[in-house]
Amino acid sequence: MVLEVIVDISTAEIDRPFDYEGEDVPLGSRVAVDFAGRHTVGFVVGKKQTSEFSSLKKARYLDTPVSAEQLKLMNEMRAAYNLRHIDVLRLFIPTKLREERDPEYKRIFLTAAQGIDEEAVAAMLKRAPKQREVLDHLRAGKGEYLSVLTERFGAGAVNGLREKGLVNESAVHDARVPLETLAGQKKHVTLTPDQQRAADAITEGKGVYLLHGVTGSGKTEVYMSVIEKMLEKGRTAIMLVPEIALTPQILGLFRARFGDAVALMHSGLNAGERYDEWKRLRDGEAKIAVGPRSAVFAPLKDIGVIIIDEEHDSSYISESNPRYDAKQVAKMRAENCGAALVLGSATPDMESYLLATEGKYKLLTLKNRIAAHQLPEMEIVDMVQEFRYGNRSLFSAALADAMGAALGRGEQIILFLNRRGFASFVMCRSCGWVAKCEDCDVSLTWHKSENVLKCHCCGRRYHMLSKCPQCGGTEIKQGKTGTEKVAEELKALFPDVRVLRMDNDTTSRKDSYFRILNEFASGGADVLVGTQMIAKGHDFPNVTLVGILEADSALYFSDYRSSERTFQLITQVAGRAGRADKKGRVILQTYSPRHYVFRFGRTYDYEGFWRKEINTRMVTKFPPFTKVVRVLVAAEDEQSAVDSTRNIYRAVKDIEARVGGFVYLGAAKSPVTRMHGLTRYQVLMRVTPSVYAAVMPEIYALTAKFKPQKGSCFAETDPQSLI
Ligand code: ADP
Ligand code: ZN
Ligand code: ZN
Repeated sequence: MVLEVIVDISTAEIDRPFDYEGEDVPLGSRVAVDFAGRHTVGFVVGKKQTSEFSSLKKARYLDTPVSAEQLKLMNEMRAAYNLRHIDVLRLFIPTKLREERDPEYKRIFLTAAQGIDEEAVAAMLKRAPKQREVLDHLRAGKGEYLSVLTERFGAGAVNGLREKGLVNESAVHDARVPLETLAGQKKHVTLTPDQQRAADAITEGKGVYLLHGVTGSGKTEVYMSVIEKMLEKGRTAIMLVPEIALTPQILGLFRARFGDAVALMHSGLNAGERYDEWKRLRDGEAKIAVGPRSAVFAPLKDIGVIIIDEEHDSSYISESNPRYDAKQVAKMRAENCGAALVLGSATPDMESYLLATEGKYKLLTLKNRIAAHQLPEMEIVDMVQEFRYGNRSLFSAALADAMGAALGRGEQIILFLNRRGFASFVMCRSCGWVAKCEDCDVSLTWHKSENVLKCHCCGRRYHMLSKCPQCGGTEIKQGKTGTEKVAEELKALFPDVRVLRMDNDTTSRKDSYFRILNEFASGGADVLVGTQMIAKGHDFPNVTLVGILEADSALYFSDYRSSERTFQLITQVAGRAGRADKKGRVILQTYSPRHYVFRFGRTYDYEGFWRKEINTRMVTKFPPFTKVVRVLVAAEDEQSAVDSTRNIYRAVKDIEARVGGFVYLGAAKSPVTRMHGLTRYQVLMRVTPSVYAAVMPEIYALTAKFKPQKGSCFAETDPQSLI
């Protein structure tokens, strides 16, 4: 039999099936092959009787990790996103399966060796007190995993003992369930009529459901109820959560309800743990895959439902190779499997809600919060006024008062600082004026290194200002306030306050994120100061006050989605206050209190906001009424980037002349001109959805044709940022 094999090497040149001789094995099988003198693994994507080549090399069968259903999805993804075979295949399999070795996860377990003369041991360890300590530790207990010992005593001491032969080693397969400690309490709830209606509708049907429910309206209970019903029918489920919201809470809830039927697919696990969880899913031991976007590729059979919580979240989009949108992929997969797709959010994506209003998605609404208290009251504070009254601190008088009161009652506070990308806008502190591009009407971004202002939509550059053109004020705010600064001012105001900070600096370690949240949850601090990371999904019953310090920074981020993202953020952050029996309060500080985002945000009026925003998008011809396509060219030398960009631009012009449907087409330097030593240019276009499917294959072809010799070139749709 001739097998068509994709080898596990990712380059454009060999991204096609190669013929090998082998047994008749199922499609999706993993085989060991030699390729160009290299020993590697490959995946069978086709079979045939004869090959046009003679003397084929042999492929040796290993196992079948990819199903026919997954192969179909792979092909659909390749077409939609212009991806290489192998890059998609790798999404479906744990890294362990990319080696020919036995992928079983083994940990080394050490015990103290028996029967060695005690005097000899003493002599050997005389000058090695640390090793002595390790040995005593092993003798005191039943032994210990190598990794645990190394972490505790250091590799030197442990390896010293191993070399002296004073320990016995065994390799054990330990399929321990990751993050076991997170199992939560099982709660027994009776669904409300709204919840029940939503759960019934989803369980009965196929297609896409948009579950729109304010924070705390009990969406998670609906998800779990639907999953339970699916399991009863003998089917399986995938639950996607934004990476950052993969908190102890959701996993704990699922573990409490479904026990070992839940498998976690998460990048925070090590390769062995990931393989174990993958295997439990594939073998049918686990039936629910929980995880961030990559969990959409879970090796489950007969999927009954795929749920995407916080469906508006940008983490569902992969922005590096392989680029894909997990929400779209979930849609394809649900369709292939006859599964229901559930998109849940308090603030659905503009497009999702549009499709729901058009009847293409089935809209399910949870109007009320479960807890006795309704959503916290939101107060908008005008920071321009504060400035006029002489308040130069980060906190408005109202917020400072409220914090004092909450601390006095022994309640907890969250202070949220907005941080989006690396960009920072420029604003006059005395009148609130914001520097904007004259052509695009999006706010300009200050580039510290060059001290210039740039438009991220069109690339135009402006001088940095020292004086406000509107009021002549000289206090121009640029750059961002950090969590550290906030903590300092807090301490100055309330000397005894206990503050925890959470941002990229404090969470560089894998587990520090959970650690900080746990510490805060257990009352280890009065105030949690943080960025985006604290916005999602956490449930802190003792938090009664949320302060939003720089509500504007997302608003003036130079992107057509600024308003939408700001609305999402404030809704989410506000949802952190008053989750249990205590009434919550939100104070939002802004320099543009009359902006419609805050007007609608204050009353949590998603529909009002959506109507206003969708209208703007329609008029300005932005998504979902068009698709933004960007071709990014990066090259070592500037001239080849320019040449390549020009060629692509001209070719797209030709497409435009032939097909029509372009509302914008331009080529310019990318806002971030150099990255990773490459000079970056881009062709930016907005096309109407009706021509999108027709033009994309041509645009993908152009990226291959005009890729700079030393550099890269790719096309992406609706990119999350245009830097
Ligand atoms: P959401 O996901 O919409 O933000 P959750 O599912 O987290 O909301 O629900 C908020 C709180 O209400 C949780 O503590 C949850 O246990 C509780 N809850 C949800 N549904 C019910 C119900 N039917 N009866 C009692 N409590 C419920
Ligand atoms: Zn511009
Ligand atoms: Zn001014």
